[in-house]
Amino acid sequence: MIVITGATGQLGRLVIASLLKKVPATELVAAVRNVEKAGDLAALDVQIRQADYNVPADWDGALQGADKVLLISSSEIGQRARQHQAVIDAAGRVGVKLLAYTSVLHADTSVLGLAEEHRQTEAAIHASGLPSVLLRNGWYTENYTIGIPTALALGAVYGCAGDGRISSAARIDYAEAAAVALTEDDQAGKIYELAGDTSYSLREFAAEISRHSGHTINYVDIPEGEYKKALIAAGLPELLAELLANSDSGAATGALFDEGKQLSQLIGRPTTAWETSVTTAIS
Ligand code: NAP
Repeated sequence: MIVITGATGQLGRLVIASLLKKVPATELVAAVRNVEKAGDLAALDVQIRQADYNVPADWDGALQGADKVLLISSSEIGQRARQHQAVIDAAGRVGVKLLAYTSVLHADTSVLGLAEEHRQTEAAIHASGLPSVLLRNGWYTENYTIGIPTALALGAVYGCAGDGRISSAARIDYAEAAAVALTEDDQAGKIYELAGDTSYSLREFAAEISRHSGHTINYVDIPEGEYKKALIAAGLPELLAELLANSDSGAATGALFDEGKQLSQLIGRPTTAWETSVTTAIS
């Protein structure tokens, strides 16, 4: 039995869809914070178990009988190390045979502020002694394509990534990688650095939007502090704005770049081209 946490999230749903191509639904458990959001998963015969990362007592029941667990990192930035610890502790008590975790690209050396909680979680997994596989996910291309309507409205892509190159991949690529790691043999001890096959700068990203939209969209590089203020003005919470601006700055020095092609090797096909993601987002 495989338990997937964060199963009602965007990545979680794609992981379950990918797993359903490999194992029967009755082998899958979706651990979800809100059962009401999981009706579509239950309709597929996936077992639904309620568990909140903030409630450690939920997790023994949620992981009962699990051979493998995919811990999808929480979206509650600043709370994540503590939240993930609750799942790791329960996985230890239940005695799972493989704990997979969605970490961040180059977690051990990354300069991104976002990487700190992932480093803490990786250390906690290591300390638990559980057999584990680390899926160090790079940037989702969707992090940028979601901003295309704003870029079209403003006539520009704003950021502080300079000419840094970004090896992003689509969520579906990372989801398929998780499904492979959860179903192939001999995954314990593996650490995957997962990123797109090709890279781009935000200047090239803006040019691609121009090409497909018929509107001239320039890339405007601004200081990190100004970008953070712009994100707050656009409605993002301060901590998230700070970490996203910090990530863009990290991109300027290569923190979102990787050319190892481990993701396409794992999923057995090229990663979704970033240009395709731009086209899809515009059409
Ligand atoms: P998402 O759509 O926001 O999903 C996050 C999931 O975490 C949701 O299922 C959410 O439950 C669940 N969750 C949050 N707090 C919880 C809690 N207290 N207890 C139980 N579940 C909780 O994010 P995503 O796009 O699927 O991405 C998955 C994870 O990757 C994110 O959580 C984040 O850690 C990380 N991430 C990575 C990138 C990247 O570029 N690599 C970008 C964004 C995020 P609900 O459905 O109930 O809200």
